[in-house]
Amino acid sequence: MTRVLIAEDEAGIASFLEKGLVANGFSTWTVADGHAAARLARDEDFDLLILDVGLPGMDGFQVLRQVRTRGEHMPIIVLTARDGVADTVAGLDGGADDYLTKPFSFEELLARIRARTRPERTPEPTVLDGGRMRLDLRTRRAIVGDRTIELSAREFALTETFLRHRGQVLSREQLLSQVWGYSFEVGSNVVEVYVGYLRRKLGEDLISTVRGMGYRYDGGEPSDTT
Ligand code: CA
Repeated sequence: MTRVLIAEDEAGIASFLEKGLVANGFSTWTVADGHAAARLARDEDFDLLILDVGLPGMDGFQVLRQVRTRGEHMPIIVLTARDGVADTVAGLDGGADDYLTKPFSFEELLARIRARTRPERTPEPTVLDGGRMRLDLRTRRAIVGDRTIELSAREFALTETFLRHRGQVLSREQLLSQVWGYSFEVGSNVVEVYVGYLRRKLGEDLISTVRGMGYRYDGGEPSDTT
């Protein structure tokens, strides 16, 4: 699956991008500031970066420079306001692969992304293996042993996020941005509530709470360390 990092601080645009990309078979990760964008571009393995110019913390140009200085070659598509095109073209300095002016249609963006990412050689699996639990991406149901479990849309999205990051600690903010797309307040306890739903439906020991940090999907298998 092609993994797209979205760096966009406007919640409405970020959620428009996430929904459209997920519907087209991409996996997305969204951040709302420049520092997080530069950090994730370094630490995680993304196939493409969609980068807004006007980001808090560090603007898109600075992110671009930092990413390219480190020698990362992932394709980067820059999003810019229509009245900032001249500045943008100057600021790209050869570091970006393409740019789009806001507002843009999703189809326009998709065409640019497809031109920049290699076609997948192997078809995307339709079942994600999560240890004791498996997730069927077509029927959007979980399978535990011989039980098939119905999931609501949010439960499915949360489960899929956990499975795609199996063994990694995901913070509440990461889960909020990935599954709820910033449509909830930071103080919201919706993540806790939904993790509770998943534990009841799928098994209490699949998802560990990592105190002060977040949650980790272990798949109900014994860990290597004590
Ligand atoms: Ca912005």
